[in-house]
Amino acid sequence: MTQTNSTYDVVIAGGAVVGSAVAYFLASHPRFAGRVLVVERDPSYRDCATTRSAASIRHQFSTPENIRLSMAGTAFLRQAEQWLAVDGVAPGLSFREQGYLFLAGPAGLATLQANHAVQRAEGAEVALLTVDELAARFPWLHTDDLAGGSHGLAGEGWLDAHALLHGFKRRAQSLGVVYRQGTVAAFEREGARVTAVRLADGERFACGWAVNAAGTGATALAASAGIQLPVRARKRCVFHFRSPAELPGCGLVVDPGGVWFRPEGHAFIGGVAPPDDQDNDVDPADFDVDHALFDEVVWPTLAQRVPGFEALRLLSSWAGHYDVNLLDANAIVGPHPAVDNLLFANGFSGHGLQQSPGVGRALAEWIVDGGWQRIDLTALGWQRVIDGRPLREQAVV
Ligand SMILES: Cc1cc2nc3c(=O)[nH]c(=O)nc-3n(C[C@H](O)[C@H](O)[C@H](O)COP(=O)(O)OP(=O)(O)OC[C@H]3O[C@@H](n4cnc5c(N)ncnc54)[C@H](O)[C@@H]3O)c2cc1C
Repeated sequence: MTQTNSTYDVVIAGGAVVGSAVAYFLASHPRFAGRVLVVERDPSYRDCATTRSAASIRHQFSTPENIRLSMAGTAFLRQAEQWLAVDGVAPGLSFREQGYLFLAGPAGLATLQANHAVQRAEGAEVALLTVDELAARFPWLHTDDLAGGSHGLAGEGWLDAHALLHGFKRRAQSLGVVYRQGTVAAFEREGARVTAVRLADGERFACGWAVNAAGTGATALAASAGIQLPVRARKRCVFHFRSPAELPGCGLVVDPGGVWFRPEGHAFIGGVAPPDDQDNDVDPADFDVDHALFDEVVWPTLAQRVPGFEALRLLSSWAGHYDVNLLDANAIVGPHPAVDNLLFANGFSGHGLQQSPGVGRALAEWIVDGGWQRIDLTALGWQRVIDGRPLREQAVV
């Protein structure tokens, strides 16, 4: 028999970086005085995308909303140690600002230039570099086959993802948010409203608002409310390697074919999207690393782009799951038109860590004020999904 255990103003399904960001921004909103519950299946966060991510932030997108969200992310991260401190203890985010470097061959130059124009219009500090400028600024780079590059001058970089997640969570808890271990089985819906959130163990929490922040688990939860979310899990592998090469000024470099690398402490991490990604549903328990991808694609590309990488040594590797929006590789954020009080924050397709502060704040403001306030996320909403109108991101890594 199911019973209603309690009533909350907001119940958030999934308590990793996105769910915890929503919880933190709600609890710290000066005009919100409600009760918030976060239900998280695995408080160790071992397998979630957040803790398996490459934890990097860039402003070099082609979609204005993505640029704005990441710029909001940078603005937050620059002050987050102060805002997320609890009893004087800061979360230790290790945010290191170091620009991305997108490289283009002749075929990709026009896209790079078009993206650059959008980024500049949004106020991103980015510079287009000629091949001569690339060679002068990054002498460790092989440039013969390149036509140009785009370099982030400020605001891009990387951080400790685990520390950001726990920073949001600890601060939210200190402000009264309740975290409960459990698996959400369903959003219970009556007409255009979710009335309660039901857990797999039978517990039931009545709610004024529900938020779906369940990452790759979000699709099943959406279905429980009768909504088809076009989000599927896709495997991504990250390779951690050491090299004797010195790469001064190296940020996160994206090769024309999509192979990327960046410094990680005294070593590097890198990876690439697998070639057969679109139709490759991944088993939720499959975290096996694709070593052939490293041997056949990543390493040869690294060695060609940075001659010093020929002598690299693989230290470790891991796999994680992207929550990919099959429609257009962009997040789906906000309410579905059929259900007023169920908010979605899903399908981040590889850029959810950097978008978590912006999306968390925007959804908190939606709950308090009933609409978008500081960041208008209409373009990332459900309507484009319902209409089948993709908002294609050209700069997916
Ligand atoms: C290898 C890799 C590299 C990445 N690199 C970057 C990067 O450089 N920059 C960037 O911005 N992003 C990156 N990402 C993407 C980023 O990590 C994700 O977009 C982001 O972490 C999504 O956060 P989330 O909280 O929505 O989801 P998740 O971190 O997946 O968390 C979802 C949570 O919901 C819980 N959950 C699921 N189902 C239920 C349920 N039914 N009931 C209760 N709880 C449930 C899970 O246990 C989990 O804790 C990367 C991802 C991967 C895998």
